[in-house]
Amino acid sequence: MTKRIAVFPGSFDPITKGHENVVRRAAAMFDEIIVAIGHNTTKQSMFELEQRKHWVKETFADLEQVRTEVYHGLTVDYCKQEGARFLLRGLRNSGDFEYERTIAHMNKALWPDLETILIFTDTAYVSVHSTVIREIIKNNGDVSEFVPAAVRF
Ligand code: ADP
Repeated sequence: MTKRIAVFPGSFDPITKGHENVVRRAAAMFDEIIVAIGHNTTKQSMFELEQRKHWVKETFADLEQVRTEVYHGLTVDYCKQEGARFLLRGLRNSGDFEYERTIAHMNKALWPDLETILIFTDTAYVSVHSTVIREIIKNNGDVSEFVPAAVRF
């Protein structure tokens, strides 16, 4: 049987407990999950790529079917390159849904064999957004409740 490989793409700036929860629950569904950090040259990130990668890697160090990579270019091209036919995404609310639907349809048009798999967030993490976390960090607030223990700065 061909391996069921899923790519979980994002900026992970920084990784949150919401992201972690999605990957841990999906681990039961796939043989391998690649947490793929997109290298976006136009989007200014708060944390360096290597730092983000290190935190993601450490967060999933106990899961042998999860690996962390950095990719450039289109997500569908990266999935093809890795032989991944599943694209994993998390859903918090209707805003996420509308966004994910658009992206999923575009990706389907670009590569019809790719299936987008959406997982609802655990209610505990429904309000956890990287954007808000970055704002709290900028203002010296405590984010330890919202990010995995590996995230230290
Ligand atoms: P992007 O920059 O593509 O939005 P993110 O790193 O913010 O990437 O998120 C990657 C994926 O994780 C997206 O599918 C997003 O919807 C999902 N996600 C983010 N926060 C949560 C959360 N709290 N619960 C569940 N899924 C989440």
